[in-house]
Amino acid sequence: MSTILIIEDEARIAEFIAKGLKSAGFTTHATSSGIEGAALATHGNFDLVILDVGLPDIDGFQVLEQVRGQGVKVPVIMLTARSSVTDTVAGLQGGADDYMAKPFSFEELLARVQLRLRAEQASGAAENGVVLRHGGLTLDLRTRRAEVDGRSIDLSAREFTLAETFLRNPGQVLSREQLLSNVWGYDFEPGSNVVDVYVRYLRRKLGSERFETVRGMGYRLV
Ligand code: CA
Repeated sequence: MSTILIIEDEARIAEFIAKGLKSAGFTTHATSSGIEGAALATHGNFDLVILDVGLPDIDGFQVLEQVRGQGVKVPVIMLTARSSVTDTVAGLQGGADDYMAKPFSFEELLARVQLRLRAEQASGAAENGVVLRHGGLTLDLRTRRAEVDGRSIDLSAREFTLAETFLRNPGQVLSREQLLSNVWGYDFEPGSNVVDVYVRYLRRKLGSERFETVRGMGYRLV
């Protein structure tokens, strides 16, 4: 049974969606807060998220940004105002999988939800948030296995955590200090080159072109 998170501050609409989904056999959880919704969507192990744009604290785009920023791939259907094409475009660019313009019929929404869940199963990505992917590189956080273009690669625990840090922040420059505190968790003496050494290990195992040196700043997963 699929569990669906509803992030919507209008109680009437949230209830309307929850009631319909329950009678269609889904389990639902609703919140009216964007901040709480972002945390739930990131850590709550939901199969799908229905996300309203207009929320009282942070808006739906910010929720989406936080969730995708954590590398969480859970499918998101955004609820937008029918008049706002900008909202729709922004939502899809921000990583929403689909959108529904308000007002909508429940049948319409249910069809989108079912379509999205089927697509998700078909792509084998039902392990939302557990598998990180970027440019042919895959990390399964549950089995602690790494793959490059479908080929399994052995990584030590430290290497895995370092690779995970890069995959959670693709395209971002990560400083040696950030990597040290995230992967090693305590301060090394100044001048320690442990990060450089481990980046070299990752380059050797996962492909040297992936980990770019940004002079004077750190490293970036490209
Ligand atoms: Ca709203």
